[in-house]
Amino acid sequence: MAQRKDYYETLGVSRDASPDDIRKAYRKLARKYHPDLNPGDKAAEDKFKSVSEANDILGDEKKRKMFDQVGFYSDSGAPGSAPGPGGPGMGFGGFDFSDFLNQHQTPGSGGRRRAPNPEASPAAGGGFRDIFSQFFGQRGQGGPQTHEPEKGSDLEYTLNIDFWQSIKGTQARMNISRQDACTTCYGSGAGSGGTITCPECSGTGNVTQMAGAMRFTLNCPRCNGTGKLQSACPACNGEGRMARMDYVDTRIPPGVSNGTRMRIAGKGNAGLGGGSPGDLYINIRVAEHPFFDRDGDNIEITVPVSVPEAALGAKIEVPTIDGRALLKIPMGTQNGQKFRLREKGVPNARKETRGDQIVQITVQPPKANDERTRELLRELAELHPEDPRAEMWGKV
Ligand SMILES: [Zn+2]
Ligand SMILES: [Zn+2]
Repeated sequence: MAQRKDYYETLGVSRDASPDDIRKAYRKLARKYHPDLNPGDKAAEDKFKSVSEANDILGDEKKRKMFDQVGFYSDSGAPGSAPGPGGPGMGFGGFDFSDFLNQHQTPGSGGRRRAPNPEASPAAGGGFRDIFSQFFGQRGQGGPQTHEPEKGSDLEYTLNIDFWQSIKGTQARMNISRQDACTTCYGSGAGSGGTITCPECSGTGNVTQMAGAMRFTLNCPRCNGTGKLQSACPACNGEGRMARMDYVDTRIPPGVSNGTRMRIAGKGNAGLGGGSPGDLYINIRVAEHPFFDRDGDNIEITVPVSVPEAALGAKIEVPTIDGRALLKIPMGTQNGQKFRLREKGVPNARKETRGDQIVQITVQPPKANDERTRELLRELAELHPEDPRAEMWGKV
């Protein structure tokens, strides 16, 4: 593996040297080691080459930027082209760094890109791309002073209520655990201790990443290469927020149905870096009632009637969500027949309307436990000898 070159060292300039400083340093060294002035001196010739190479990279804004970012410069494009200044093994076949850097340094592009590189083998281009995406993707995160405003995430809770609460509405207090702005640092994440040494890079501003046998030196993503971080708030470890038990009072409107999803704005997790909080979503589960069934805003109920009631007609009392209601069933009511009680259903949770109650009749024959009942029923059978299945015979 080729030795990593430090072009700044070669030119004897600091990493923040201006283009003018670099040009001056190069000229001075180039004059000193120029082959014409040092005939036959192999060491001077090598030195001259190194200095020229360093000037070639650092004197070019784009190349210098890349060198600063990844610790070396390669302009090798396709496989088989001349190896870059790093020597053999540094020619990344099919991996176009300048293209890569353009994509990742465009302000606002910021995302992690994992698009496949069709020219690169998975072992080469894909791997590097992933490594770089990781680093570039992490830029600006981790240090309390570098938080971009980030919206807090939403929370989702289930609220179980009984049937009557769903009909009449209710007040519910929900205990939730949410990430809330830290009360010590008011959400900034910053401690009172000024700046501290970045723990990620131990203050060097650089981190080393291995990719197979390759070493990369990158700007530390946590401190952006500064080596320093604002000291973290001790209460929230610099997060700016912390988990807290909170309660949320909600009004459940009359008529709410099972599976309703309610949104309570701003009651989700707190945002970061001044970002707005997420929302709280409440999923409502309504317990079943022993005999009232809901179908939208309608209530469905099955009501048993006696044979005389069904046959002769009757005014019967049926349960509704308002209490008892009178239902008139006509003479000759059949098993399974349905009747509608208007506006005895559920109040609509949004509109000023009410559903209906649908009453389905189930005819209950008497228990013929005594001789007198059996006698009457036999008499009834003699009076009505017609076959109740007569209609079926014509169809089989
Ligand atoms: Zn804090
Ligand atoms: Zn660092």
